[in-house]
Amino acid sequence: MGSYLAAMLPTNPDVLIIGAGAAGISAARECGARGLGCVVLEAGPRIGGRCHTTHALGAPLDLGATWLHAADRNPLTAFATDTIDHDTVRERHLWMGHRWAQEPELAALEAAEQAFHDALDAAAAGPDRAVASVIPHDGPWDATVAYWEGAQIQAREVTELSLYDQVANGLEGPNLLPRQGIGTLLLGLAAGLPIRLGAAVDRLDWSGPGVVAHGAFGRLEAPVAIVTVSTGVLAAGGIGFTPALPASHQQAIHDLPMGLLTKIGFSATDRLGIPPFHGVRRRVTADHPRPMSWVLWPFDQDMLFGFMGGAMAWELAAAGGAACEAAARGEFASIFGSGRLGRAVVSDWGENPLFRGAYSQARPGGAGARAALAEPLGPLRFAGEATHQGLAGTAGGAWLEGARAVRSVAGS
Ligand SMILES: Cc1cc2nc3c(=O)[nH]c(=O)nc-3n(C[C@H](O)[C@H](O)[C@H](O)COP(=O)(O)OP(=O)(O)OC[C@H]3O[C@@H](n4cnc5c(N)ncnc54)[C@H](O)[C@@H]3O)c2cc1C
Repeated sequence: MGSYLAAMLPTNPDVLIIGAGAAGISAARECGARGLGCVVLEAGPRIGGRCHTTHALGAPLDLGATWLHAADRNPLTAFATDTIDHDTVRERHLWMGHRWAQEPELAALEAAEQAFHDALDAAAAGPDRAVASVIPHDGPWDATVAYWEGAQIQAREVTELSLYDQVANGLEGPNLLPRQGIGTLLLGLAAGLPIRLGAAVDRLDWSGPGVVAHGAFGRLEAPVAIVTVSTGVLAAGGIGFTPALPASHQQAIHDLPMGLLTKIGFSATDRLGIPPFHGVRRRVTADHPRPMSWVLWPFDQDMLFGFMGGAMAWELAAAGGAACEAAARGEFASIFGSGRLGRAVVSDWGENPLFRGAYSQARPGGAGARAALAEPLGPLRFAGEATHQGLAGTAGGAWLEGARAVRSVAGS
């Protein structure tokens, strides 16, 4: 497919776009709308990047982006036709270690979560520091709130998250689940775009008036290039720059490390008496400090998925997909008993050199890094989830950033 398309691509594009994820697709569409010729160079064998829907379990399952967060201001909401507001159908079940939590316990956890968000907002009036600094240590729910708000949602522990960055990217509002999957949604939005697959960019030479991309595909030149690869890829030197990036951009990349969420789907026919779309979490305790979270039977399908996040996800990802799967089966069995789960599919965002994590998080004190990375650099623009302010870390934020980068090179 890549070589078939390659023959049809412009040889003298106005804009080179590196990466065919949400930001790259959006940038290419914006180029088209403005009459700019572009080529999207994508290293991988597929379109969508961190938005990827698999059908390995017989129904659509997103291995990356799952919800259209903050749906009322998410640009992708307008394209999604068959969605469900997950919060209207998701009851949360909390495993206490030996029994399910009762209503007063669930209410106490909810109150602790609200107190956390209030404390975060109040602390934003002071200097930036780690999110962990606003969480007390002595309450019965503090460890659960800290783990949920850090590793499980933000994919990094609260000690490693900038308070300013969290407040700026709060993602309040509806969380929509698209039935077809966000990966499928993006595939549709990419139809007809000039995307070359299997075209890894090894080096971008921006020493002249424009940019020359080098890779196994040869060389391709354009007046400007929009780089949408993750900060994990940039930090690992996945693309070389000639000349090297200035200190400002290198610092920004350093200040936006990737968190990791590993998503694991299982086929499962035994519904366990739990209705579709419900969520299962586990209380954090001293002897079970790093639990997973689960969503059961989405869209009434015989399937469920779970997340492991933060340091635990990195450790298991390094051990391989089989280790992730075994840990997930063990976690699920510790609540529901063994033998409940069928086939598995496991994401590889942490180990895959095209991603090196799930999404970026500013370090404490590093909240200015998103704007710094978005600063134009001669003929180069960086755009993606990492550069958005407000929807950072999301597919919607990446989408907005791709279009913004094109507007910035087009001068409007
Ligand atoms: C498990 C998980 C759960 C998530 N949950 C949600 C969610 O519920 N809602 C939400 O909105 N977001 C979620 N996200 C985040 C969301 O998926 C990302 O923020 C978004 O998709 C990033 O898009 P992007 O275009 O910035 O980057 P990417 O999607 O990473 O696109 C960059 C592209 O560049 C390519 N590339 C890399 N190196 C090179 C190279 N050298 N040359 C050419 N191409 C290269 C990559 O293959 C990739 O396709 C989740 C992510 C993960 C992993």
